[in-house]
Formats: sequence, C-alpha cells, structure tokens
Amino acid sequence: MEKNKHVNKGLIFVLVAIVLLVISIFIFYNMKSNVTDEKLAKETSSESQKKDKKPTISSTSTSTSTTTTITTTSTSTTKKITTSKTTKSTTSTTSVTQTIREVASTTSKGFKVEYRAGAYYIGGILIANKSYPLDKDYIPSGTHKQASSSTTHCADCIIEDGYLAFQKMKEAIKEKGIILWIQSGYRSYSLQNNLYNGYVKRSGKQQADTYSARPGHSEHQTGYAFDVCASKDGKNYPCITSSFNNTEPALWLKDNCYKYGFILRYPEGKENETGYKHESWHFRYVGVELATKLYNNGSWITLEDYLGIDSKYDN
Ligand SMILES: [Zn+2]
Repeated sequence: MEKNKHVNKGLIFVLVAIVLLVISIFIFYNMKSNVTDEKLAKETSSESQKKDKKPTISSTSTSTSTTTTITTTSTSTTKKITTSKTTKSTTSTTSVTQTIREVASTTSKGFKVEYRAGAYYIGGILIANKSYPLDKDYIPSGTHKQASSSTTHCADCIIEDGYLAFQKMKEAIKEKGIILWIQSGYRSYSLQNNLYNGYVKRSGKQQADTYSARPGHSEHQTGYAFDVCASKDGKNYPCITSSFNNTEPALWLKDNCYKYGFILRYPEGKENETGYKHESWHFRYVGVELATKLYNNGSWITLEDYLGIDSKYDN
C-alpha cells in the first residue's frame, strides 16, 4: 500500500510537471508570435502609414488624427486671433485716426492742447468730449479705488480729490435730509461701447448721440465724472432721467456743487456747446477755483466755452 502511494504521488508530480511545461511552451510561443506581429505591424506601418488600418497602428493613426485636431484647433485659434486682431486694429485705427486728428496746438481762447498717455489735456484739464476722445485703453490713475483693465464700472474709481470732495458735498446736502450717492462713476470703454450701441439700436445713431457718448468720448472713462442719485425720507428721487431736473437735490446741486469743486457739466441751453442734452445729474470735478469761475454766479459757463473748444464728431 505504501509503495502504491509513492507511485501515485510520483505520477501526480510527473503529470503536474508536464502540464506546467505545456503551459510554459504555450505562453512562450504566444509571446514570440506577438513580437513577430508587432515587428510586422511596425514594418507595415512604416511602409503604408496612411492606408494601414491595423489595430496596432491605431496608436499612430490616433496620433495623426490628434495632430490634425490640434492643427484644426490651432488654425481656428489663429483665425480667431486674426479676427480679434483685425477688430483690434480696426478699433485702434479708428482711435488712432481720432487721436492724431488735426487739432490746433492752442485753442481759440489761447489754451494749450496736449495729448499724452491716451488723453487730451487742454489748459491742463483732461477733456473727453465729442471732439477729444480718450484712447480705448485709457484707465484713470490716482483714483480712490483703482480701476483695472477688467473693471467695467466702478462708483469709487473717482480721482481721489474729487472723491473726497464728494464726501463733503454729501455731508452738506444731508443737512437738508437728502441722501446723495454716486450711481455711475467710472465706466470702461467696452461698457460705454455696449451702452452706446444699445441706445443706437433703441433710438438710432443721431438721437443716441444727443444723450450718450460714443465709446472713448465719455467723461465717465476719465474718473473725473459721475452721475448722482438721491433720496429723502426713504423715498428715491427719479434717477438719471430728466424727471430729476427740478427736484430739491437737483436744484441744490446746481447751485452748490461748485463749492466742492464740481461743475454741472451739461447745463440747460448749452447743448450746442457741450454736444449733449442737459443732464442735471452729471457732475465733473475740476477743483474749486475753476468750478467757481464756471458757476458764474448761477449762469453756468461750459468747459467748451471757457476753453474755446468744440464738441463735435467728425462724422
Ligand atoms: Zn453721466
């Protein structure tokens, strides 16, 4: 019995060994044939890369299609860039045409006209009107809050002196029970572009030009100007509309803003000088000295009249 057990064990061992050997041979053979396949595939692929559709070449063909995709993408990107470049150059060409437009070096009233860092200064005063545009990239500096290239609008991005003066004016009008605030301060070129185009769609170019500045021509891009709104006893006055004109805050501002260095930029009856309809809510900081001159004892003189300049578009 013991001998039989040994024989059986020996047989099982031999069988297991044979099975293992067969498996090893099978695996070895398979590996070899794979390598051959790969070699073949590589050779075929180098011979006919474009036509071959063997799975092994799929990686190559994938990379080819990826390259194509990238090329397509880069082509469309290039196209996009080109388009935006074209747009940009068109825009800058327009603004360049505007900025290098023939302007006298002195105005009819003898003020010096200078162009520096994207803006016109006349008699040392930054001017943005229909005749004197700002560069589309012009962003004011020295403002209470600094605007960046991504800022579209900012009530506090007002020249620091003007901002501080506004706080004083706000305190003064508060004695009348009126709460005053800046509704619209700095506005970027792009925002003005959107606003203006919206107005043009709504009422046509000719009409829009009487109450909205074309991009680059808005005083809101200078950081010196803002539109105010007001309330009293918890009730808001009409805001940025002609209905504000004869309200208590509008009348107070018209006769007191100069004390803080502000001017009523677009006075009534001066449309031909400023190029805009009367705006009882739009103020511009120029400092107390000049503001007092322009207040002219209640008969407002426009900046255009004072400096001897126009406010007219070329077209
Ligand atoms: Zn305004």
